[in-house]
Amino acid sequence: MKQGNKTNWTVADSAELYGIKHWGADSFTLSDDGRVTIQAEFPQGPVAVSLSEIVAGAKARGHDCPLLLRIENLLAARVRLLNDSFATAIKHTGYKNRYKGVFPVKVNQQAEVIHEICRFGKEYNHGLEAGSKAELLLALANLNKDSLLICNGYKDREFIDLGLLSRKLGIDCIFVIESPSELPIIIERSRAFNIKPLIGLRIKVSAKVGGLWTETSGDRSSFGLSTAQLVEVVDQLRKEQMLDCLQLLHCHLGSQIPDIEEIGAGVREAARFYTDLSREGVPLRYLDLGGGLAVDYIGNQTKHSHSRNYNLNDYCRTIVETVAEVTDAKQVAHPIIVTESGRATVAHTTLLLFNILDVLQFEPLSLPQQCPDNMPELVAEQFDLYLQSEQPSVATYQQALRNRDTIRNLFRRGDIDLRQRSLSENLFLAIARRTLDWLDSNPTEESKLPQLRHLMADIYYGNFSVFQSLPDTWAIGQVYPVMPIERLDEVPCRDAIISDLTCDCDGRLAGFIIGNGESPTLPLHNLKDGEEYILGVFLIGAYQETLGDLHNLFGDTNVLSVKINQNGSFDVVREVPADSIADVLQITEHSPQQLFEKLRVRAEAAVRRGDIDLTERQQLLGEFSARLQGSTYFNRDAGGEK
Ligand SMILES: *Cc1c(COP(=O)(O)O)cnc(C)c1O
Repeated sequence: MKQGNKTNWTVADSAELYGIKHWGADSFTLSDDGRVTIQAEFPQGPVAVSLSEIVAGAKARGHDCPLLLRIENLLAARVRLLNDSFATAIKHTGYKNRYKGVFPVKVNQQAEVIHEICRFGKEYNHGLEAGSKAELLLALANLNKDSLLICNGYKDREFIDLGLLSRKLGIDCIFVIESPSELPIIIERSRAFNIKPLIGLRIKVSAKVGGLWTETSGDRSSFGLSTAQLVEVVDQLRKEQMLDCLQLLHCHLGSQIPDIEEIGAGVREAARFYTDLSREGVPLRYLDLGGGLAVDYIGNQTKHSHSRNYNLNDYCRTIVETVAEVTDAKQVAHPIIVTESGRATVAHTTLLLFNILDVLQFEPLSLPQQCPDNMPELVAEQFDLYLQSEQPSVATYQQALRNRDTIRNLFRRGDIDLRQRSLSENLFLAIARRTLDWLDSNPTEESKLPQLRHLMADIYYGNFSVFQSLPDTWAIGQVYPVMPIERLDEVPCRDAIISDLTCDCDGRLAGFIIGNGESPTLPLHNLKDGEEYILGVFLIGAYQETLGDLHNLFGDTNVLSVKINQNGSFDVVREVPADSIADVLQITEHSPQQLFEKLRVRAEAAVRRGDIDLTERQQLLGEFSARLQGSTYFNRDAGGEK
């Protein structure tokens, strides 16, 4: 990376380096004074508010980092964009029906998000999709009038009873049959209540999609009906004289589908099922194409699994045109198109902010001018290489690396002592650092030393837990945009990886988006004394919050929901304080009162034995009690800074 040497660093250089001009699109930009800003759209034009301002506002309200920030305006913009883009595609294609979106609740079940989606989606009749009883309950209560409630997933009698009864309120609750065994319960319960169900069928399309979720569709998918089962279920409904209940055909190809051609192929196949069922006399009205609309985390518009080779307009146009073409060819009326876009609806609205607590650098300590006397031959040779590395080369570095490893072997065998090994390691670090600096001005050589940059990268310790806040980075290697929220007019002269607070070597971020590609390290600035260095992780609104867990008992962070106003001010519309230590202990079935009592008994015994006095007892129990109410994360104000 060359930025280490660049003079006259500008904000534009940061926008390019961190890729925010690509993945940020119209949601995030940089201000002239080097800060990340949120862009909120208003009829009169966009309004930008810096994250620094919001962090200061949060702090003044008693919420420190780590902080999960939800920006209401960005969610509103996504719901609007999705619906408007389909409307535009429908108009341009001359499509003779409409679009009705639903939000799949599993992608983000947080009350604030569901409320906002229903509020912003009201004018579009944007509905909800539920995949479990718990999701059904929250969907039933929140759903807008004239919106769809699509029920996927396994449905027992309790699920079906509630869904059926909701029909009496005029709710379009559609049971999507995932397996033939669900049909008899639906038939039986609808007869018992004398309520006609709305039924959908989930099919398995054979068209394959790429990305991380290829197993969602295809013959071996755990969801949906095979073609043979589909025909059987249709025949059964006909026999029961319930064919009129069958109104929706559903498929879900997978999440984050990077290639538009594969989406087109899947839609074509689903539409073919639709036309042939329609021609058989099934009164289908809806074609539900599930989720899969990808987020361009990298921002490079490619078929990479963290990107996508299309934009929202391409997506809508491909779907509308394909459905029109296939249904026209078979003289079938155009269906209402439904999609279940989750990721693309909520990813932008949430970001994580955390402060850096400490940095570990791999720099050599001071070295002597000359090699000390009586050093073993190999250490002396290492010293020579160090002198030679004033003019670095690939060969010098490679020899030094071999020497280092040999010296480590000799140490293990007892042939080299601690001081000799220490000198040798220090020499190696010095050679490696010089070589790395040299690579900055000789980038063509970098491919010959693929590990070096990573080997020498600093470790920045962040005040957060990967497992709580960014579980997909750990579970599936998801890469999110990460960058400092300030100082973007300064050259970032360190290469780093980021480690979290957990005592787990998996608790780190070691994949970043740089320029318009991926990188194992992230350029960052040196910390300044007395100044917080805050990093933002962006586009994390999908799937992370409820997947997150309590590893090491780091709990939920503070959550702030913010609404940006047209005059550039912002309102904090909701604040949820972080889990306290008592909260996370309770979740793991430790009773805070009992823990306190156990410690009290021990302290009392110690007083009796004369090991501590009463003041010390009070101090200990007071601390314990205060910590129960305190945060699970690192508290800067309580010291511990290095
Ligand atoms: C998970 C899921 C979705 C959401 O997919 P995204 O790619 O996040 O839009 C939609 N429909 C079904 C059936 C799902 O299981």
